[in-house]
Amino acid sequence: MSINTKFEDMVYQRPDFDGLYAAMKGCLQEMEGAQSGDELIAVMLKLDKLSRNLRTMRSLCHVRYTINTKDEFYAAEHDVFNQALPRFGEFGAEAARIVLESPYRQDVAAKYGEHLLEKYEIQRKTFKPEIINDLQEENRLTSEYQKLMASAEIDFEGEKRNLSGMTPFMQSTDRDMRRRASLASWGWIAAQQDKLDDIYNQLVQVRHRIGQKLGYDNFIPVAYARMGRTDWNQQDAQAYRAQIVESVVPLAQKLYKEQAARLGIEDMKFYDYSLTFTTGNPTPKGEEAYLVEQARIMYEELSPQTGEFFNTMIDRNLMDLTTKPGKANGGYMTFFSDYKAPFIFSNFNGTSGDVDVLTHEAGHAFNGYLQRDVELSDLADFTSEVAEIHSMAMEFFTHPWMKRFFKEDTTKYYYDHVVSAIQFLPYGASVDELQEWVYEHPDATPAERHAQYRLIEKKYMPHLDYDGVAYLEQGARWQKQLHLYLYPFYYLDYTLAQMCALQYFTWDMQDHEAAWASYLNVCKRAGRVPFKKLVLEVGLKNPFEHGTIASITPALEKYLDGLDKSTIK
Ligand code: ZN
Repeated sequence: MSINTKFEDMVYQRPDFDGLYAAMKGCLQEMEGAQSGDELIAVMLKLDKLSRNLRTMRSLCHVRYTINTKDEFYAAEHDVFNQALPRFGEFGAEAARIVLESPYRQDVAAKYGEHLLEKYEIQRKTFKPEIINDLQEENRLTSEYQKLMASAEIDFEGEKRNLSGMTPFMQSTDRDMRRRASLASWGWIAAQQDKLDDIYNQLVQVRHRIGQKLGYDNFIPVAYARMGRTDWNQQDAQAYRAQIVESVVPLAQKLYKEQAARLGIEDMKFYDYSLTFTTGNPTPKGEEAYLVEQARIMYEELSPQTGEFFNTMIDRNLMDLTTKPGKANGGYMTFFSDYKAPFIFSNFNGTSGDVDVLTHEAGHAFNGYLQRDVELSDLADFTSEVAEIHSMAMEFFTHPWMKRFFKEDTTKYYYDHVVSAIQFLPYGASVDELQEWVYEHPDATPAERHAQYRLIEKKYMPHLDYDGVAYLEQGARWQKQLHLYLYPFYYLDYTLAQMCALQYFTWDMQDHEAAWASYLNVCKRAGRVPFKKLVLEVGLKNPFEHGTIASITPALEKYLDGLDKSTIK
């Protein structure tokens, strides 16, 4: 198992699941019986090695299956894994409990830091055997939502299309096409409203019950614990959202007005905002081989670490980028722990999303690469507001090289990237505020929830004119956002990471050396300290603190004003 193994030479072997399960159970027993701190830690590492091997095989199987879903061997193995995995879910929580209750817990903290125990502690808050049935019901409901949304069949322009198939029409430069496509797409969702209301209603009930069984007034503390948030709470979130209303909403509104002027539309409707430029979106000027070569040059110039990282990705064939028959949809980054290798999967399709893969997903992969030698996997386990700093900040650190990818479209790309980052923040805050209200009012009716969201929407996105579409007017737009059904309270994490990424953007323009050194630390220290501590430790401002956002937005506005407007149209 050389650390230089190429992807195609990595060996997949189906784990002996029963044997592995017994061995891991054995580790738990040994941990309980440990006679010293050293012994406890030694068994923790032994258990970690077993679970790393399981994860490596699972990832290899998943990657090879998604690259070619027609491959019979990996399709069968993929099924076997899906069947076998759930019972291994118990080991993390059990091992955490044993460490916390061990007389040697302080030895673990002394070696790996207090934060590891804090992470174990928060994990413990999310589970008691009494909620097993509720968790199963929650799972059933979330898959029902996914199935329903995936079943969309919209007859449009002579073909049956799913929801994502409607996107190109909704971004059409022809206003009537945009309007008709939006009405068709939202019309299908509106027709499912009874089902969508019912699924969410049941989810709120079951989650409220889980919250109460775990000893809380409602579900909110459980949701925060599930997200692994050890050092910020609901009050922090409220203060943060208030800053967005105060400092981001006015700027976002100004940018929407600029968009209306650019498009020459006086009565902007909700379906007009998906068209950013009358000349079309910025697109990369080349295909995979060209884009990867530009990225190689870019990462070599950016820093020795990124150069080494990206050359490793190329030399060991750790990327599968272009769409081909049989390949699964979407994009992701994963990690083969036993081979200390990240892997990037994507479907290049000629849009600016191709470049995002080489910056955003590569940012995640770079972090995995920097942490590849971590002694205990749990140390490198971190929350998603931290994870998305790695990727979103990389999108900005790579700005100076974007000419290589976008050529004459580069200024449009810059403008669009910064503007969408700003405009995303109010939306992210709005769905967080709705969820807080929902779980604080578990008995509210679906109609009351929608009415509440419409009020919230008007505070964060007052520009939206729904043109009389009843479903949207009543405040039901959030039902299209899968996170509200599947990953409650997740959304704020994206906005927090974006707030940090935007700080890196302006810092990088003033002092590249310092900003980059800080970014490397954010990658290396991720998982060792919680979010707020990490942010302060690397010299960023804490987004929760009043005044932080107001101190960032003027530089963004100035940057946008300084762009050559002649190409932004
Ligand atoms: Zn990401």
